Amino acid sequence: MLDEQTIIAALEEGGAIAKRLNTYELRQSQLDLMRLVIRGFNNDAIVAAEAGTGVGKSFAYLLPALSHVLLNNERIVISTATITLQEQLYEKDIPLVRSALGVDVKVVLMKGRGNYLCLRRFDETAREQNFLTDPEYEALQAVSAWIDTTHTGVRSDISFPLPDSLWARVACEADLCMGQRCPERKRCFFQALRAQAAAAPVLVVNHHLLFADASARRDGAGYDGTVVLPLYHRVVIDEAHTVEEAASSFFSEQFSRFSIYRQTGRLFRRQRGNLRGLLALILPALHAENQLGEIESVNQKLRDSADSLDKTALELCKREGVFRLTPDADKDIRAALIPCVEDLRSRVQAYTALIKDMLETSAENENEENAVVWEIKAIRKRLESIAQLCRVFIEYQQHPDKVLWLERHNSGGEPWVSFTSTPLNVSPVLKEAVFDPNKTVVCVSATLTVNDTFDYWASRCGLALVVERLVLRGQFPSPFPYATSVLLAIPTDAPLPLPDAPYRDFVNTAVGTLTACAGGSALILFTSYSALESAYNASKTLLEKQGIRCLKQGDDDRSRLLKTFLAEETSVLFATDSFWEGVDAPGDTLRMVILCRLPFRTPNEPVFAARCEDLERRGGNSFMELSVPESVMKFKQGFGRLMRRSSDHGVVVVLDARVIRKFYGKVFLSSLPKTKTCFAELRTIANKIEWFLG
Ligand code: SF4
Repeated sequence: MLDEQTIIAALEEGGAIAKRLNTYELRQSQLDLMRLVIRGFNNDAIVAAEAGTGVGKSFAYLLPALSHVLLNNERIVISTATITLQEQLYEKDIPLVRSALGVDVKVVLMKGRGNYLCLRRFDETAREQNFLTDPEYEALQAVSAWIDTTHTGVRSDISFPLPDSLWARVACEADLCMGQRCPERKRCFFQALRAQAAAAPVLVVNHHLLFADASARRDGAGYDGTVVLPLYHRVVIDEAHTVEEAASSFFSEQFSRFSIYRQTGRLFRRQRGNLRGLLALILPALHAENQLGEIESVNQKLRDSADSLDKTALELCKREGVFRLTPDADKDIRAALIPCVEDLRSRVQAYTALIKDMLETSAENENEENAVVWEIKAIRKRLESIAQLCRVFIEYQQHPDKVLWLERHNSGGEPWVSFTSTPLNVSPVLKEAVFDPNKTVVCVSATLTVNDTFDYWASRCGLALVVERLVLRGQFPSPFPYATSVLLAIPTDAPLPLPDAPYRDFVNTAVGTLTACAGGSALILFTSYSALESAYNASKTLLEKQGIRCLKQGDDDRSRLLKTFLAEETSVLFATDSFWEGVDAPGDTLRMVILCRLPFRTPNEPVFAARCEDLERRGGNSFMELSVPESVMKFKQGFGRLMRRSSDHGVVVVLDARVIRKFYGKVFLSSLPKTKTCFAELRTIANKIEWFLG
């Protein structure tokens, strides 16, 4: 059992952590959170904890977690949603806790597999280097030199330009890894990492790795050895509000004409008049040169079929950019889509059957150390999975537990369509794979509650299905002085956010006026790129005349954009989606956040729409039980961008009048900390902001 008094003492005034932190402040909510986590470890319980910004949640779970490791010699897995948080834990927080506890607990950071270089694939690519583009060739030479100096083989350690297309050819991939049969296994970075992980009592992983391990165990790999991760029974899930989305993405399956091109291209292609690819390499060893014509024909037919399906799918996605397979669209699905999917499936099967026949007539088939045969088999399995997924699309009505949907993409020069299958509901699998098998599961985040209850989050992540387990819940408010340092302003003269000119014009005027009043230093969050562009174009000239630089999402990559925003104190950043979370801009560089519209999901998002329909079928109210709470969670994240440390001072403006005029608006407002408020006409708000920001 962990001793609460001893652990708490480290965080109190004069304690081991306090002495090591220049910025130490005693925070009651941090101590309370730590008490709850300690109870979670001592009672084999599940903990759900919402800790507002500034509580210091990492220390509150790290101290009990590492103390538990020392006392009980049990492994702990800490899972996060982002590499940034993984690195912060590994490089800053855990070393500090380790030194506070005066121990040398071994900790291993495991990023997703695709972050590590695969030496075997690197060798293969080097053999084909004459067929690389010039930038790829240059990067390959640099990677070759880097291999001799790196200890980790992790992509983020590379400082020279590295095209994604080259990394895709040399990165680790689970199903292409030969493991113990690999000729490079002794030098392999990923195998070395796994060996370190097996000997480490603390692992810092991401949600995808956690789910990969948990689902493999649930599907038969068992609970008594290493699978993706070494065995563990206690887990901390940080950024737990993202669990449903991360699980939906992990358990989704997808194909497109490009994924088919990629697989067939690895098997067989003609490049500058030469035969390339794994099949071309192995034909002489298989004595199958006479099958060259057949391979070429099967290969071409499969690519043609993928093209033709893509064309049909583009037609179906024409209006909305997405198309979901539902009984309402059955006529289109049967007339246009299914014949093409059936054709693709039979072409894929013809290809995989040919590969199987070719290999089975050769003794090389049994040679498990032949890397080319190994990889051909792995790609054959990938093609077989695509054939299986085609079958799911063909029999779509027999799969009510899946959302089957098409989406148009415009990247890569020409439009193309992805075919995706996403679980309708991930909560049963999360319950079975994550909550049931672990003795302690600590879930923490700054946003887990809506209207002071965990009900929504618990119903989405599987916790609501857990019975006969002790579940400890707690809310730990931010220690920041929101009541005096933050002004929440809502213009009462804002028109309702309908897709017409009055609302758009109002937002454009308000963004320019308020940002000018604040003297810049603002983050303006939109829910659509077209609204962002409209407001940016309308305000840019006015703001730049005042010497305020305007930055826009899409003009540069996210991290460079954020660096510029942080460095230039008065700059203004116009952004959407991903910037509602994870922007950390303490100090005067961010004094105003404008939330232009409540972040409701659009009803045509296929997975969301299917989940709403499912809830309605079960007698629920999808608007109040799904749309509103989901939007509130994101709204809280957006609001949370403003105050990043206790001395911050600023304004959050909400330009969506539904928050004060609609009955559900109070759910949004009551989910925020208490602040100063100003609900008035835009002109009054502008004056108040000028006064409030001094
Ligand atoms: S063991 Fe796997 S990851 Fe490592 S070099 Fe070999 S194939 Fe690549």
